[in-house]
Amino acid sequence: MAQWLTGEVIENYAWNQELFSLRVRTEPFAFIAGQFVRLRLEHDGGRVQRAYSLVNGPDDSILDFLVNRIHDGLFSPLLHQLQPGQLIEVSQPPSGFFTLNEVPDGDSLWLIATGTGIGPYLSMLSTHEPWQRFARIHLVHAVRYGADLAYQNKIMDWVALYPNQFTYQPIVSREDYPGALRGRIPALIESNQLQQAVGDTLTNRAQVMLCGNPEMIRDTRALLDVMGLPKNLRRKPGNVTMEHYW
Ligand SMILES: Cc1cc2nc3c(=O)[nH]c(=O)nc-3n(C[C@H](O)[C@H](O)[C@H](O)COP(=O)(O)OP(=O)(O)OC[C@H]3O[C@@H](n4cnc5c(N)ncnc54)[C@H](O)[C@@H]3O)c2cc1C
Repeated sequence: MAQWLTGEVIENYAWNQELFSLRVRTEPFAFIAGQFVRLRLEHDGGRVQRAYSLVNGPDDSILDFLVNRIHDGLFSPLLHQLQPGQLIEVSQPPSGFFTLNEVPDGDSLWLIATGTGIGPYLSMLSTHEPWQRFARIHLVHAVRYGADLAYQNKIMDWVALYPNQFTYQPIVSREDYPGALRGRIPALIESNQLQQAVGDTLTNRAQVMLCGNPEMIRDTRALLDVMGLPKNLRRKPGNVTMEHYW
């Protein structure tokens, strides 16, 4: 049975009209970067809960969640309205196996996300583990509009800090955007455009993480399988580790 901590909203930061970062203070708890918790609110006389990845690093005292408001959704519009000082429940213990300790060693780590799926990677990158284990790290973030490219300051700090180890490649599908590729992730891999953009190859020495939209994950996973990068299982280590958001 999940336990629930009571958290206080510290900030609800709007990146744009739909995308926001909810910052919540609770009593401290341990988690592995990449894990998620459930957030719970009272609504219409009942309680509603959904899963959200922790964006903050395990050492940060304030919880950070990157959330997309789904217009016909039930829970995300409630989160969108929250103001500092309001309370929200946070499940314990944190859940999930989309963590680097589940990822085999390799030469390169490809962190590929759509939308809010970048959250777990930001948490992982704020720990020492990826920098110590992988010679090359590529953060690939696919969004609809340039304004959806959240956490640019944090990402640019890593670009500056690890110029020979880290690349950041945005993909923007609905407008031309400086420095971004345009198109779908599987097509950009199949045409080699993504690999060219980050200056690396997708061989069986690469470890790939996929997070976000299930269609992207399904199609990218199928393509990588054909390219000789199979799904990573505990009983049979491979190259592709996944987290579906719906
Ligand atoms: C392990 C896990 C971690 C998650 N982490 C996050 C997170 O960090 N941030 C986050 O915003 N959501 C995250 N989600 C999704 C989240 O739990 C909710 O499903 C989402 O906020 C929609 O809830 P809702 O009640 O508003 O919509 P619902 O009424 O539940 O409608 C769900 C529909 O909304 C769409 N949808 C769901 N999530 C997203 C999304 N993130 N972006 C675009 N479309 C979406 C899908 O079409 C889905 O069928 C996660 C889900 C899982 C399983």
